[in-house]
Amino acid sequence: MNNPIKILKEIRNSVQKGDVSKLVLVFGLALVVVLINLFFLPVSIAALNLVVLCVATWLLMANYDKLARFSLENQVKNLELETVIQNIRDGVIVYDSNFRILSMNKSAEEIFGLNATEVLGQSIEPGMVKNPHLKAFTQVVFPSLAPVVNTISSSGWPQIIDLTLEDPRRDIRTVLNRIVNDKGEVVGFLKLVTDMTREKGITESKTEFISVAAHQLRTPLTALSWSFESLNKILGDKDPNIKEVTDLAKAGWQLTERSLKIVNDLLNAARIEEGRFGFNFEEVNLVDFMNAVVKQAEPIAKEYGIKFGFAPAGANYPVKIDQELLGIAISNLLDNGIKYNTKNGEVTVKIEPDQKPGSVRIEIRDTGVGIPKDELEKMFQKFYRGTNVVQMEPNGSGLGLYITKNIIERHGGRIGVESQLGRGTVFSITLPLNPK
Ligand code: ADP
Repeated sequence: MNNPIKILKEIRNSVQKGDVSKLVLVFGLALVVVLINLFFLPVSIAALNLVVLCVATWLLMANYDKLARFSLENQVKNLELETVIQNIRDGVIVYDSNFRILSMNKSAEEIFGLNATEVLGQSIEPGMVKNPHLKAFTQVVFPSLAPVVNTISSSGWPQIIDLTLEDPRRDIRTVLNRIVNDKGEVVGFLKLVTDMTREKGITESKTEFISVAAHQLRTPLTALSWSFESLNKILGDKDPNIKEVTDLAKAGWQLTERSLKIVNDLLNAARIEEGRFGFNFEEVNLVDFMNAVVKQAEPIAKEYGIKFGFAPAGANYPVKIDQELLGIAISNLLDNGIKYNTKNGEVTVKIEPDQKPGSVRIEIRDTGVGIPKDELEKMFQKFYRGTNVVQMEPNGSGLGLYITKNIIERHGGRIGVESQLGRGTVFSITLPLNPK
């Protein structure tokens, strides 16, 4: 058992001044009770009372020590948490399950133009959106009230949501997480609020710059490519005396075509970023559509010495697609299969019913250089090019797969990739059937 003197010393060390004075008050009151007892009661009962009081006081002292230390630890923890919350660069709002605001930091005050005292302890309700002073704050607590809402996280926690607020226009990202106690019960929520208006503005002006520059380049490049193509037709390739000239004209045409492809990729990526990809969906038979796209790629395959095969399993797959945009996506996969192949390699294209009912699967398989395993995920990112192909094929924008994935997903489809380094790659696309 703890010795009371030691306990007192520990208490003195651990509790604050205010706590010690409360303890002294308890001792003082106990002493008064003892004196009253001695004065008014028979000695035996007074002695009994004295013993009971001593034991109670001793127990109180022993537990007071623990309680004081526990309360001190909690105070320190809360202070640490509050300091962390207050110093986070993003806005932080903490509320309980009744949307009662428990904490809000300085950054959140700045974002919402509010003083924390105006909302602390208050239960926020959707109706508060009518109050112009609390509008933005209420929209962030209840994102469905914001004019533009975009859910980023797929499911589970944290929930990430992008919001656009009006008057003034602001782009906000919120990350909501639950606060769970030791028993696993949800006791509240913590919302991180990031004002992305400036970053979004910068990205938008960069995208606009790329879009304008690419537009300006496209017209002269198209004219140049057309001139080289005409020159190639005029020269033909039969006259050995002008072989050097015909080779130069051929190289010039190929290079302008490649540059045009990069410029078009930049324009399409900018259109995706700006949300300007207008889709014009129409009902077609996927086999007919694929036949036409495959045909367009055949001359390139011939040029690279690649064998090309197209095998649809079944004749009619009705889909609702934008033929021009899905054409860009599929052509890009076919071009890659040809470009990143080996001499005398093969590219085979299949269409078959997907395992998932109501879907069709397109497979583009090549026997090429493959993709390193640790880079597979990155391939669909903007400007990413495989470390194994940069030397082999220096001309490339790294935008093709980014654009392809975007187009396919906007068709309600999915794209996947499997690859073995040095053996080949399989891209598979699933699209919804029966568009009605
Ligand atoms: P680009 O072909 O212009 O580099 P893409 O976005 O179309 O851009 O492709 C990104 C990268 O993915 C390529 O640079 C290459 O590393 C890899 N890749 C795409 N398709 C294939 C393929 N069929 N075989 C091997 N690597 C591929």
